Amino acid sequence: MRQLSQLLASARSQGQCIALVPTMGNLHQGHIRLVTVAREQADVVVTSIYVNPIQFGENEDFDNYPRSLDKDLQMLRDAGCDYAFVPDDDEMYPQPPLTQVTVPQIAKGYCSADRPNHFSGVCQAVARLFNMVQPQLALFGEKDFQQLQIVRRLVQDLAFPVRVLGVPTVREADGLAMSSRNNYLNQTERAIAPNLYQVLCDTAAQLQKSGNLDAAENTLAQAREHLKSLGFQVEYLELAEQESLQPAQVKSQKLVLLTAARLGETRLIDNISLEIA
Ligand code: AMP
Repeated sequence: MRQLSQLLASARSQGQCIALVPTMGNLHQGHIRLVTVAREQADVVVTSIYVNPIQFGENEDFDNYPRSLDKDLQMLRDAGCDYAFVPDDDEMYPQPPLTQVTVPQIAKGYCSADRPNHFSGVCQAVARLFNMVQPQLALFGEKDFQQLQIVRRLVQDLAFPVRVLGVPTVREADGLAMSSRNNYLNQTERAIAPNLYQVLCDTAAQLQKSGNLDAAENTLAQAREHLKSLGFQVEYLELAEQESLQPAQVKSQKLVLLTAARLGETRLIDNISLEIA
């Protein structure tokens, strides 16, 4: 860490903008897009790679989470990233944290319904990384929409001197959102997986066409059933207000349709933004 601080100190003293891209590694083109946008917007790009144990639930895939450091480092070099920051557990959590960082209102439900400590684990790691790297810019993917809105609010509430930039989801040619967990899909599941985004697109189009929020729950119920008939176990598929993630109530708000669904053992998430005028 001291080494990174020293390397960044000279950039900082020259007034250069430092960008941070926090990741858990096993990089794909979605992560690389964040690095590319960071490269365009900042003078120095730091990508952190840390599989954060405290954001995983008890029965989740922490032990099996794919780790591919050598390949990741090569991809970062190719993308023009200046520094990879790869802290170990002692560096990230020299002692078990007693401080909690949470944004309970936005962290409620959706991706935390089945794993209540997930987002406080994310916030803990993000807050520490912000203090360790002290970036002026931090990039997060819209794919993890709830996470992005939580981090935005965390930064506002605690006055972190960081600009948070959300980057649109990078997809495979068939629409599947890129994810480190896509590697878990077998061939049959991989063929079904793009339907998740397709159903989101169709449902968003239907909601926009009807323009009637009162009928939205019915449309969402049909979409959930459709996903089930395709072989997904739907954790949630909901329409929410973008910033607060409270259930959508008023027309003309910026809304987001969010979903998480399992195919076999693999948990996929996706979302699409929309406005109902
Ligand atoms: P992860 O390594 O899964 O923690 O992701 C690190 C960052 O990359 C997060 O800000 C994610 O939202 C972002 N990310 C992951 N997949 C994608 C994608 N397909 N498109 C854009 N950003 C992504």
